[in-house]
Amino acid sequence: MTFEDLNLNTPLLNAISDLGFTQPTPIQQKVFSVVMSGRDVVGIAQTGTGKTFAYLLPILRQFTFSKQKEPRVLIVVPTRELVVQLVGEIKKLTAYMSVRVEGVYGGTNINTQKLLIVNGLDILVATPGRLMDLALCRALNLRYVRQFVIDEVDEMLNLGFRAQLTTILDLLPRRRQNLLFSATMTEEVDEMIGIFFNAPVNIEAVRAGTPLERIEQSAYEVPNFYTKLNLLEHLLATDDTMRKVLIFSPSKRTADLIHKHLEARFPEQFEIIHGNKSQNFRMNAVAQFEKGLCRGLIATDLLARGLDVTDVTHVINVDTPAEPETYIHRIGRTGRADRDGAAVLFTSEAETSAREAIETLMEKKIPVLPLPGDLVISDQLIEDERYTVPEVQLKPLTRPAGAFHEKKAKNKKVNLGNKTKHLRDMKYKKPIKKKAKRK
Ligand code: AMP
Repeated sequence: MTFEDLNLNTPLLNAISDLGFTQPTPIQQKVFSVVMSGRDVVGIAQTGTGKTFAYLLPILRQFTFSKQKEPRVLIVVPTRELVVQLVGEIKKLTAYMSVRVEGVYGGTNINTQKLLIVNGLDILVATPGRLMDLALCRALNLRYVRQFVIDEVDEMLNLGFRAQLTTILDLLPRRRQNLLFSATMTEEVDEMIGIFFNAPVNIEAVRAGTPLERIEQSAYEVPNFYTKLNLLEHLLATDDTMRKVLIFSPSKRTADLIHKHLEARFPEQFEIIHGNKSQNFRMNAVAQFEKGLCRGLIATDLLARGLDVTDVTHVINVDTPAEPETYIHRIGRTGRADRDGAAVLFTSEAETSAREAIETLMEKKIPVLPLPGDLVISDQLIEDERYTVPEVQLKPLTRPAGAFHEKKAKNKKVNLGNKTKHLRDMKYKKPIKKKAKRK
């Protein structure tokens, strides 16, 4: 199937040809006609399957020019980085159309964003928190939204945006089309669909042909974090196919440690992004990595999620994520579209069950490679590794028989229920009771 078969118009076909795409991906083929028919869609698709264009293409195909100031299409995504990325993709796709698109997200001046909205727009891309703030202070009117997209909803719920999403859904007009995309189907996602969606069509990006197939996976059994650092350094020093490497770290603290370590050995070759870094710093780091100006990017899960960086040669997992889906998301950064990639997993004994859960989810074992002979095994431990759950069962806590001293009577608080009534009763001594009606 070609893009012409989807009955796209000339401006979209020209934009797609500029982007160099020749064929719609399976999820793009499936989602297109359902969105065009006006039905709600629940798409289960990881990043890397082409799911973003799967909803953008039919939305833009139906687009009509308007001078109306309020947005008609609303797209909600979990992070600021995704907002910026998505606005960029929409701009590329609408290069030959007249579409006003803006992105709003937290952590920046809300007044500047209010101005963007006042000027009028067709498509708004937003993170849930900022969107809710703008809607509740009435800077933004959501009553004209006809199509509502929630992308990466599982991640949004993981981040605790449930309340914001519910508020936004309540502010939207009843008559609208909902398009929801999630990498995984969790109970919470399912519940949300049940409440707000109207007989949606479920579309799943088929496993065959997804990037997972194109990724060569391998694992190393490594005893602790510092040995993992040594191994990382060793691999980077000996494997020159590792040209554009995305390194996942379990936490901000370990990300900083990895960065410090690599900076000493490979100065100015590695960038880092995590939640404690400023927005500008993060954008700059990602841009450097994307342009190939540095060899690698160290990231925590939250920020790397959904980031679309091309030609990543290797994804290195310094830890084995406890949630198997997280592993799938991580390695999905490589082997995207039609390129092959490699994913390396560092796994310690304590992470064995996490690794098994990943293998169960993928229905595939990750081949374990022998550690390099000259690898330095460290016995230094990081704080998390030093803490081990004591084997012995703790005795249940027993309360001491009495307090150090007995409380004075006036300090003994007793909940008497209705406080006003209680005070009134104390003041008037005898309780005032309604007289029973005489028969
Ligand atoms: P997504 O799954 O939306 O994160 O997209 C993953 C990557 O695939 C992005 O870099 C897109 O630019 C690219 N892409 C999307 N659709 C196509 C297509 N039909 N052919 C080739 N690449 C595509």
